[in-house]
Amino acid sequence: MSKQDLLKTVEIEIEACQKCDLWKSRNNTVAGEGNSNATVIFIGEAPGYWEDLQGRPFVGAAGKLLDELLWRVGLSRGEVYISNILKCRPPDNRDPCPLEVKMCTPFLDRQIKIVEPKLIMSLGRHSSCYILSKTGRKDIEGITRLRGKVYGVNVLGLRILVIPTYHPAAALYNAKYQVGLEDDFRLLRLELKKLG
Ligand code: URA
Repeated sequence: MSKQDLLKTVEIEIEACQKCDLWKSRNNTVAGEGNSNATVIFIGEAPGYWEDLQGRPFVGAAGKLLDELLWRVGLSRGEVYISNILKCRPPDNRDPCPLEVKMCTPFLDRQIKIVEPKLIMSLGRHSSCYILSKTGRKDIEGITRLRGKVYGVNVLGLRILVIPTYHPAAALYNAKYQVGLEDDFRLLRLELKKLG
């Protein structure tokens, strides 16, 4: 099966998923989208209002900022893969709860294993902690301390660079986060250049 077909198989399973209660309130599942051969995967937290309505990741205000940040480093959505920790919207955009993360992240793990990215940019505390905790690290702090660095990790049988950064939605409300986010995208551009 091609990578595209494998991703489609995961998407079909996500559409039918009832492993936690979020299926009861969803309009659509949001599996993720992008290039099945992407060098970079961006991982957000969970679908919001617009994502739930459209079934696509990062299509609301935070998505517009993500698109702009991608454009500034010479990337387009078609070149990257974009996914989330949760595939269904939590009511009122509340934080994902541990059971939801436990039930849903096997889908994300499978997407990562299929795409085999060289780099993961984790957007926000939830996705950064999720990815880095898979490496066995016990010293995972808040996103402000984690960000601004590149972590070379072994996860899911892959050697990957992880760049944790602020969530674009946070940057919409706080200019300090926007500056950090822009710096981290410059770091991403440098790392991509090194990868060739
Ligand atoms: N915020 C996220 O974390 N993911 C989305 O897809 C949209 C907003």
